[in-house]
Amino acid sequence: MARKRKKKNNPSSGQAPDALDFDAAPEDPIAHWQAQALRKTEAMARQLKKLGHQEGAALDTAAEAVHDEAFRRIECLDCANCCTSIPPMVNAADAKRLARFLRLSEGEFHERYLTRDEDGDTVINASPCPFLAEDKHCLVYEARPRACRAYPHTETDFHKHLDLHARNLPVCPATWFVVEQLLRQAGKLP
Ligand code: SF4
Ligand code: SF4
Repeated sequence: MARKRKKKNNPSSGQAPDALDFDAAPEDPIAHWQAQALRKTEAMARQLKKLGHQEGAALDTAAEAVHDEAFRRIECLDCANCCTSIPPMVNAADAKRLARFLRLSEGEFHERYLTRDEDGDTVINASPCPFLAEDKHCLVYEARPRACRAYPHTETDFHKHLDLHARNLPVCPATWFVVEQLLRQAGKLP
C-alpha cells in the first residue's frame, strides 16, 4: 500500500522463474489494468480459481516471481488505490505502534482512527485512509499496519488466498498483473 516493494530472491520450488516469459506483459501495468479491469474482472476471477484449484501450492513459486516482476514495473506511489479504497485491519500491536508514532495515547488513537467493520474486525475508520498524503505517500509508513505491509498478498502462499486475489482484481494493478501473467503462462487467459 502506497509503498515500493522489495525484490525477493531464490524461490525454492514449483515452476522455475526462468521459464516465465514476460515478453507479452504490459510495460505500464497501471494503465493496462485501468483499461481491462472493469470488463474482464469476472472472467479473470473464474479462471484464477480454476487454476489455483488445479495447481495448488505448485503455483506459489511462479506467483512469487511474477510478483517481483509486477513491482519492478509498478510504483505504488503512482497508484495508492488500496489506500483509497480498502480500510486496513489494525491489530493490537499495530494500534500500539501507531499510537506511539503519532504521540497519542492508545485510547486517543482508537477513538480518532479505529472502528469495527461488518465482520467485527478492527479497521481504520475512514476511506481514503486518513494517513494518505496528497502526494500518495503514507504519513505513518514506518509504523503502518501489518495488513498494509502484506498487501496485496501475492508474494507468499499465493494459492491460499485465491478468493482474496479475486476480490483484489478490481482494486490492485499488481494483483491484476500477477493473475494475468499466471493465466497467460498456463494458457488460460480469458
Ligand atoms: S496506513 Fe493508510 S496510507 Fe499508510 S499504507 Fe496503510 S492504508 Fe495506505
Ligand atoms: S493497489 Fe496494488 S499497485 Fe496500487 S498501491 Fe496498492 S499494492 Fe500498490
